[in-house]
Amino acid sequence: AVQTDRLVKEFGDLRAVDELAFEIENGEFFSLLGPSGCGKSTTLRMLAGFEQPTEGDVYVDNERITDVPPYNRDVGMVFQSYALFPHKTVGQNVGFGLKMDGVDPEERSTRVAETLELVGLPGFEDRSPTELSGGQQQRVALARALVIEPSVLLLDEPLSNLDLKLRKEMQFELKRIQSELDITTVYVTHDQEEALSMSDKILVMNNGKPEQIGTPREVYNEPANEFVAAFMGESN
Ligand code: ATP
Ligand code: MG
Repeated sequence: AVQTDRLVKEFGDLRAVDELAFEIENGEFFSLLGPSGCGKSTTLRMLAGFEQPTEGDVYVDNERITDVPPYNRDVGMVFQSYALFPHKTVGQNVGFGLKMDGVDPEERSTRVAETLELVGLPGFEDRSPTELSGGQQQRVALARALVIEPSVLLLDEPLSNLDLKLRKEMQFELKRIQSELDITTVYVTHDQEEALSMSDKILVMNNGKPEQIGTPREVYNEPANEFVAAFMGESN
């Protein structure tokens, strides 16, 4: 499980994240949903360890990881811009984390092959990321996050660069992979429909604060306040 306790992030005078507390169960698909600038990415970056909280703590399986550096956290992250190394092959991109971990070349290539298979790109090792479609590049980024077998997967608007048709297809793929691995997933999006269709639980955020945490049905049918009602209503 992933837990946060009174998580706060200040940038100068701005409270980007303001006393955020939530608990994510193992295997859950948990979305952070809210308008642009509400603090979703900042929250995810604190879970990943790229951003240090001003106050509060992050726990994974009851272990406090607030001061643990990103590479020692048991998490994989996919960014909005896929950030693949353009001059390395797909295989090298996916195997990068394993190389850093000192995994030997033979095991590395086995695990890279398995993970590429999992994301629907079998045999793509020697291709260049630059010759892949947006959806394929996103799959490579996902493989790179998953190859280290993290217990938590963090996804920051991973589909927002894709056109509508591809986005729908990748939503389905992501759900397939997530259930196949049964991996705890934190998904950042500003798209109400995406959150409603993919999530087990949704945290609706506004101005760094939690407005409601609930199932898609609860958030949609029983909004906790005016903000949630209006924001979810925009999805019609
Ligand atoms: P979007 O949907 O547009 O990606 P978001 O919900 O992910 O938005 P954040 O990126 O978390 O929002 O930003 C929350 C607030 O914190 C914004 O007002 C943003 O300008 C501010 N912010 C984020 N990072 C920094 C930073 N490094 N320095 C100063 N302000 C920052
Ligand atoms: Mg963001």
